[in-house]
Amino acid sequence: MFIDSHCHLNFPGLAEDLDNIFANMRANHVSQALCVSVDLATFPQVLKLAERHDNLYASVGVHPDYELEVEPNQEELVRLAQHPKVIAIGETGLDYFRLTGDLSWQRERFRTHIRAARECGKPLIIHTRSAAQDTLRIMAEEDAGRIGGVLHCFTENLEVAKAAIELGFYISFSGILTFKNATIIKEVAQSIPLEKILIETDSPYLAPAPHRGKTNQPAFVMHVAEEIARLRNIALDEVGEVTSQNFKRLFLKHS
Ligand SMILES: [Zn+2]
Ligand SMILES: [Zn+2]
Repeated sequence: MFIDSHCHLNFPGLAEDLDNIFANMRANHVSQALCVSVDLATFPQVLKLAERHDNLYASVGVHPDYELEVEPNQEELVRLAQHPKVIAIGETGLDYFRLTGDLSWQRERFRTHIRAARECGKPLIIHTRSAAQDTLRIMAEEDAGRIGGVLHCFTENLEVAKAAIELGFYISFSGILTFKNATIIKEVAQSIPLEKILIETDSPYLAPAPHRGKTNQPAFVMHVAEEIARLRNIALDEVGEVTSQNFKRLFLKHS
């Protein structure tokens, strides 16, 4: 059994095709998936998926790539997170790759999410791109380790992974791990404890090999698990079992 710890099933390309997507999950032993919010306007769609399907969960948060007129506040995030199917806060974090200029609003928004997570007791889903040092610094300053969470779609080096684990966080690998040129990420997947690893698709984006370039879907998380098994020279079953236990330890311990 495998769990997709990060997908966007409400996005175009997936939302119209849910019956096939669920059938493919069953056929590939992907038992559960976490549907991650990117803004508050589409949060109801994400929540509806989790309410309608036993094996889907939701998160609430606003992605760092979304420039908004009105910033989400801590109170609202905490209120929306009260729903029993909302198991995480995010995705949140920093992205200095997609956006440039004065990004102090991004850092403030990230701090708001960490404070909300600590207040409501639900772990963080953190997105970080070209911003590892600021991400780690703000995590430490806001005592994010007190609630924990995951650095999702990990694309940084071993040093950053170790620092995040030190703060009490998990590392989640996406389909990028299966790409031939992902040497540094493969090294991370080989070196950190299996007990700190989650797997994800980030679908509809980033389809793993051998589906690269196609619309991604939760069933393909199996290929991420296969690559971890290959890199660590362990059985695929073990990767499935341990990463599923990790998911449950992180996200379902309170429910
Ligand atoms: Zn992300
Ligand atoms: Zn995402």
